[in-house]
Amino acid sequence: MLPIGVFEADTDCRVLWANDGYRTLVLGGAAIVAGTAPWVNALPQERTDCEQQWRAHKETGAPFSVQFRIGTPAGETVWVQVSAESNISHGVTKYFGTAIDCTSAMQQSALSHQLVSLLDASGEAVLIFDRAGNLQFANEVATTMIGVTESSLTNTDVAARTFMQAIRDQLPRELLEQYDPTSPINKWHGEIGFRSPDGLPRTLSVVVQVTRDRDGSVHHWSVIASDITEARQLQTELTRQATHDALTSLPNRVLILRKIAEAIERSRTTKNTVAVLFIDIDKLKHVNDTIGHAVGDQFIVTIAQRLVTATRPSDVVARIGGDEFVVLCEGLLDEHVSMEVADRIRLSITGPLILQGIEIDSGASVGVALVSQEMLRTESSVDAAVTLLRCADTAMYRAKQRGRGRCELYNNEMHSAARERLVLSGQLEQALAARQFSLVYQPLISAHTNRTVAIEALLRWNHPERGELSPATFLELAEESGLINPIGDWVLGAASTAIRGWIDSGLLDRHTALHVNVSRRQLADTTFVDRVSTILSQTSLDAHQLVLETSESTLIDNNPTILRTVTTLKRQGVRIAVDDFGTGYSSLSSLRTFPADQLKLDGTLVRDVGRTDGGDDPIVRSLIQLAHSLNLTVIAEWVSTSDQVDRLRILGCDFLQGHHISAPLTEKAMRENYLGTGAGAGPVPAK
Ligand code: GH3
Ligand code: MG
Repeated sequence: MLPIGVFEADTDCRVLWANDGYRTLVLGGAAIVAGTAPWVNALPQERTDCEQQWRAHKETGAPFSVQFRIGTPAGETVWVQVSAESNISHGVTKYFGTAIDCTSAMQQSALSHQLVSLLDASGEAVLIFDRAGNLQFANEVATTMIGVTESSLTNTDVAARTFMQAIRDQLPRELLEQYDPTSPINKWHGEIGFRSPDGLPRTLSVVVQVTRDRDGSVHHWSVIASDITEARQLQTELTRQATHDALTSLPNRVLILRKIAEAIERSRTTKNTVAVLFIDIDKLKHVNDTIGHAVGDQFIVTIAQRLVTATRPSDVVARIGGDEFVVLCEGLLDEHVSMEVADRIRLSITGPLILQGIEIDSGASVGVALVSQEMLRTESSVDAAVTLLRCADTAMYRAKQRGRGRCELYNNEMHSAARERLVLSGQLEQALAARQFSLVYQPLISAHTNRTVAIEALLRWNHPERGELSPATFLELAEESGLINPIGDWVLGAASTAIRGWIDSGLLDRHTALHVNVSRRQLADTTFVDRVSTILSQTSLDAHQLVLETSESTLIDNNPTILRTVTTLKRQGVRIAVDDFGTGYSSLSSLRTFPADQLKLDGTLVRDVGRTDGGDDPIVRSLIQLAHSLNLTVIAEWVSTSDQVDRLRILGCDFLQGHHISAPLTEKAMRENYLGTGAGAGPVPAK
């Protein structure tokens, strides 16, 4: 540390006298040269600054103090601070001044500047407040993030005070209350909400450090803050997306399961009921297929809105799958009330709905399940939520089975039925590979010539435990799983091969037709036509020999893909028969548009034909007449007596099928007991 210099100067700051300290510090030990200022040895730029400051002092009378660097004889650089004040003595104005070595202070200041610019570059706001909460320091970022200005330092600005208040309000109390003399600095890292200068609420991540004096009183506060509003918003949005459905913005499966589990947990103490409604829109595929997927989407959104409107604010409505919604209701009185509520909700989404000017007939099937004492006793709330949702789903499935557009309450019997379905579905998957399917054949004869005109192939599943099952038991499962396609292909292939064999061995007339049943799902498959063509060519069967039987419900579906498939097949020569006609869905008008060739009267109609009281004769007669007027061939099934044969012949029926002609027979029995009698190639002997 160099000595303090003292000097005397004239009004132009030319040094007149100085002590040794001055000469050592400012002149490197040299003598004073008359007429030179203290900054005579300063670096050129700083010398100019000093002269400017002197002139400013002379003009304004502001206190005079300058810093400049000079080189020492030892080759080092020191910072010198020169201050001077005027003094009038005996009418003469002179200046008295000091020169001190301020090197370390200037180095500290340079370091501070570097640190501050580093803080600014970090994007974090740095603020220091004194014990009373007055702002002592703020970096540049703090001006944009917090809104502090120069005036904050003189405490005239509210931003700094508001910010300090926000810190104080949201800081954990213990940081202020607990004081440990061995560690005088308490630190807290947390988040605070703060309204930024533009008035928007922001989330700041802050590190607050409270530094104390020895007596424990706060000395100052240091705060580093970074704005994490966007990151938080993004995180919130991601969480929302993970728990909500994008199309309807309703909670999704994850969230509704959590809500159900929470409701079940609450019910353990409140004893409130918890009811879950599982809602599946009826025939949404039809809307998609006929009007388009975009309208289908709109339809789903409209249903979602209606469900929200129809429920209480405390109920939770969720979309858990394509057209599946769930409503969680707490505190309903009992099962009866739950069913009333379910039906009211179902009716709110039932009826005609206009979308893009098109009227859609909306309907839904609803399954209802209530939390049971057994669930509460045996399962955790999370597991019980999954069980409850599954029970409601099972009940909904029952509602679909019972004809849709209705509500069903879950019961234990449904559970065993659902389990059985699950087991059967697994076994069905294996059945084809395990060669458990077989075919039986039932002939159709001409009502007028008695000749065998066609053979219908009927599928059987030789179930290892349950014995022979007819398609009625497993068709729905096969449809749902899509297994109907490979199974259907197998049926067509095996039946075509059998027919080919019988024709080739002269047992069957070469024009005999093969009737095979096809389901809606098979016809709706766009590759079905190609697969049929392949099988026909592999078995050298003519397309004209193939008659595909499909149910009446396929006919009224009006599905454009099905219509396309049927039209293409017909163009190739394949014929279409409408199976089980007259059983329920009857839409006579759709017969006109549906390109069918044959109509198979349902057995329940045929059963009563020829009864002494007249039975269903008039209906059968009208149906035959109608079919003929539309150029359709009429087949009567379930023909079991010779009276029926006679009557149907008189009524003008074309083909007959049933036990009276022949029961369904295995391939071997067909060959030996039916075709072997000459029935395939010529007229059947009258029974
Ligand atoms: P069901 O009466 O048996 O319920 O028949 P469905 O036609 O409603 O068929 P299901 O419930 O088995 O399947 C739901 C269908 O809803 C499948 C798909 O065609 C359609 N779907 C699923 N998700 C969406 C979606 O996000 N938008 C649209 N437009 N359709 C969807
Ligand atoms: Mg549906």
